Amino acid sequence: MPKSSLIDAHCHLDFINFDTDRAEVLERAKQNSISDIIIPGISVNNWEKITSLCEQNKKLHPCYGLHPYWVNQHNDRDLTKLEQLIKQIPCIAIGECGLDYRPKQADKKKQQYFFEAQLDIAEKNELPVVIHSVRATEDVIQQLRNHTGLTGMIHSYSGSYEQALKLIEMGFYISFGGAITYDRANKLRDTASKLPLTSILIETDAPDQPDSAHQNERNEPAYLVEVFNTLCKLRQETKTDIAKQTTENTKKLFNLS
Ligand SMILES: [Zn+2]
Repeated sequence: MPKSSLIDAHCHLDFINFDTDRAEVLERAKQNSISDIIIPGISVNNWEKITSLCEQNKKLHPCYGLHPYWVNQHNDRDLTKLEQLIKQIPCIAIGECGLDYRPKQADKKKQQYFFEAQLDIAEKNELPVVIHSVRATEDVIQQLRNHTGLTGMIHSYSGSYEQALKLIEMGFYISFGGAITYDRANKLRDTASKLPLTSILIETDAPDQPDSAHQNERNEPAYLVEVFNTLCKLRQETKTDIAKQTTENTKKLFNLS
């Protein structure tokens, strides 16, 4: 277990998967040195729950956004609501938003429209963005090129090393999750070993994307330790330095005290 605390930079703690034992999940996270958890928004329907969870626990931090996976549910009114909400309730970022080009996902143009609108909102309100990018990293980079003032994170990164360098140069952080714990993820592990530590975040994406030690189980923030341990094995720096730096990166990006 790491001596310094860690932050789970992306966890859907509001999902119903945690409704029966959320307190225990949080307790296990605490026992495993997870100090803070970033909760991304996915649709207008989950914003209220996120707000109430984060009001009850100051170590949980809210983001509000419209996820590309549910793009067919979103509409322009939701974008207006998003702009209103972030003026009323303090939040740390816009997201998660982005592009998902897996088969059977919603129309690309529609996804790009909602992504663009949320990038505009983030830029206007000087907030970072939490970005979902699956098989779409090149298009994500293209859309970000029109928003040079923005910063943010690419959650559960799955692009190439070269694309990661481009994103870092544009002011973004690269976040690694359970995927790096699988031996077969050669390219991704190589990327995680080579990027500058000052640009790396770690996350669980719980309840999804469990690490190799918890395959087919519900993922939870305590398992961030598995992602952390893998990252430490892949890199040259000490465990303490990796814990400190990834925590500092997350605090800096999201302006956490
Ligand atoms: Zn997510």
